Amino acid sequence: MKYAIFGDIHANLEALEAVMLDAAANDCTDFVCVGDIVGYAANPSECLKLVRDLGCPVVKGNHDEEAALNTPLEGLNPLAKHALEWTRKSLSAEEREWLSGLKLVRQVRDFTIVHATLDTPGNWGYVTNKFDAMASFSYQFTPVCFYGHTHTPRIYMKHLGVEAVEGYETNILLGRKYFINVGSTGQPRDGDWRASYAIYDVENQHVEIRRLEYDIAITQQKILDAGLPEMLANRLAVGK
Ligand code: ZN
Repeated sequence: MKYAIFGDIHANLEALEAVMLDAAANDCTDFVCVGDIVGYAANPSECLKLVRDLGCPVVKGNHDEEAALNTPLEGLNPLAKHALEWTRKSLSAEEREWLSGLKLVRQVRDFTIVHATLDTPGNWGYVTNKFDAMASFSYQFTPVCFYGHTHTPRIYMKHLGVEAVEGYETNILLGRKYFINVGSTGQPRDGDWRASYAIYDVENQHVEIRRLEYDIAITQQKILDAGLPEMLANRLAVGK
């Protein structure tokens, strides 16, 4: 059994479709979404439909939450704010209701999923180093947890202490815990523009983070055609 675990799609349909094709080609039978389906790019409804049609476990991201609310958008960078205002208008009331009903943390089989952190999942903090990871590990009761939010793939392991694992794959060893950022499907920020997601091979207890090329020009043109900020199209090409 293999899970495809993806998140931070941010309304980028071309990137999401690339992940679906690669997951199928690699015999993934089950899907899991770590949140932020919408926000930034121009296909929020299409991405939402694709994820909902999978019938897979999904946790709520901060953009999913903001897109579902009617309260003023505060504490966001101007690009995110502009995109969320646009996203609120382009989603139906039913779609926003569905987003609003998502849970912050879920257990799937023997692993956990969360968008941002396990210690305070609704505060949307960022896990960017091993000290942040330590705080989440204190609230992690399964051997593996998958998360997103930073748009940067990374594997943290807790054994005697907490360390960042080199590279983008790991075996899941008994007696250890793993907190794994699957990277961003639709808007990577680690300098690599390619769509990111993870495959969890349950039989072999192995996790691999994969990167995929897709037709970025189509996504960029849709962003421009929608009247969204040009910067949102440009940043996709540099993975920032
Ligand atoms: Zn995000």
